[in-house]
Amino acid sequence: MASDTIVAVATPRGRGAVGVVRLSGPDTTSLVAALAGAVPPARRASLRTLRDERGEPVDEAVVIVYAAPASYTGEDMAELQCHGNPLILERLVASACALGARRARPGEFTERAYLNGRLDLAQAEAVADLIAGATERATRSALRTLRGEFAALVDDLVARIRSARAELEASIDFADDLHGAELVTAQHGLLAALCADLDDVIARARQGATLASGANVAIIGAPNVGKSSLLNRLARHDRAIVAATPGTTRDLVDVDVVIGSVPVRLVDTAGLRASDDAIEREGIRRSHEAAARADLVIMVSAPDVPATDLPELALARTPCIQVRNKIDLEQGSARVETTPRGPLVHLSARTGAGLDLLVASVEQCLGVAPEEEGEFTARARHVDALREARTELAAIDEATLGGAPELAAERYRAASDALERITGRYDVEDLLGDIFARFCIGK
Ligand code: GDP
Repeated sequence: MASDTIVAVATPRGRGAVGVVRLSGPDTTSLVAALAGAVPPARRASLRTLRDERGEPVDEAVVIVYAAPASYTGEDMAELQCHGNPLILERLVASACALGARRARPGEFTERAYLNGRLDLAQAEAVADLIAGATERATRSALRTLRGEFAALVDDLVARIRSARAELEASIDFADDLHGAELVTAQHGLLAALCADLDDVIARARQGATLASGANVAIIGAPNVGKSSLLNRLARHDRAIVAATPGTTRDLVDVDVVIGSVPVRLVDTAGLRASDDAIEREGIRRSHEAAARADLVIMVSAPDVPATDLPELALARTPCIQVRNKIDLEQGSARVETTPRGPLVHLSARTGAGLDLLVASVEQCLGVAPEEEGEFTARARHVDALREARTELAAIDEATLGGAPELAAERYRAASDALERITGRYDVEDLLGDIFARFCIGK
């Protein structure tokens, strides 16, 4: 339990009907007594005159106190629901500090909730995702993670891995040959079921991470194929320059859009072609970089632009959608073809024909299925941990089980440790600063 009391404005900056100051820590009650006079009974909204540290009235506000451990942070807490003027809120924070409180760091309230066992780590991260959610689908999913649905799946996997390991360890000392063969068969069954369920959770977590954090998508292709026009179509406003002179898109233009139900950062890149022009070369170099870093590349071509030999982009590992733009010039129809390099979408950025097919292809390539019941948000670090666990389990085979069960037991342990880092029940000390620093102050 923390020894100091923290204070912060919990509502966004600016003026509004209501602004909330939050306090949490052992001195909350005495601070409320100093600021609000009589301390109201726990959980009862009470109107009070708030005063600064010198006793000057600052505001008339609704005060709610929560007694530990039944609060968001698990500590004594108070919320002062003031009139939403930043000057009032700042004066109250400064007064609380003059009376002994300390300004909270970003995410510190939620960090305390985690440290006091009110939330697991995946739930704490979901608080940030619920606030930041760029689509309704993402906020619905974040709420499920916050309510513990993702952590419950992880906890179930951990329990099953533990029990498989316990069974294995219990039999190590007694195994005669007959018993040994039975054990290997039983373990195989457990492992197969575990791996199948883990694969399912990995796919769902991958989708959850994309819904919450979005994806980087780079649009590449020769000058004049219509990359900027396509980006403008997708963004539905004019962020990128659309011009008929080749090579005008020299800078990378980032636009945050929602494609289907996925938040996407679109990067329009300079035309990819050999060039003597130093600035254009720089633009091309950056395009390569953007494409290499992207989660998905949209490679555009058009009938009125000669096909270029696209340089060897670092595309081998990046999923790719090819777009044949300007079908209006050829009286072509909008459609999707399947090719060995991925989907090929025929469309027109000018008329908008086929755009829906591109949207569906983008969702599919990013692993986002149509919305289903029970979706949850996750983070890239969760997906990594799940994959690590999967790798450990995959390494337990017949030879290990039969010949070196101690090694198999060790793999089981490594798998459950990896999973427990998701919920923060195992070895996450180093991660905490990084996770909570991304929150806003007052959360
Ligand atoms: P970029 O250099 O690849 O970014 O290409 P732009 O978006 O600047 O487009 C180049 C030219 O092609 C512009 O004159 C656009 O108006 C035109 N263009 C883009 N998309 C289409 C399309 O679908 N059909 C037709 N007919 N013209 C297009």
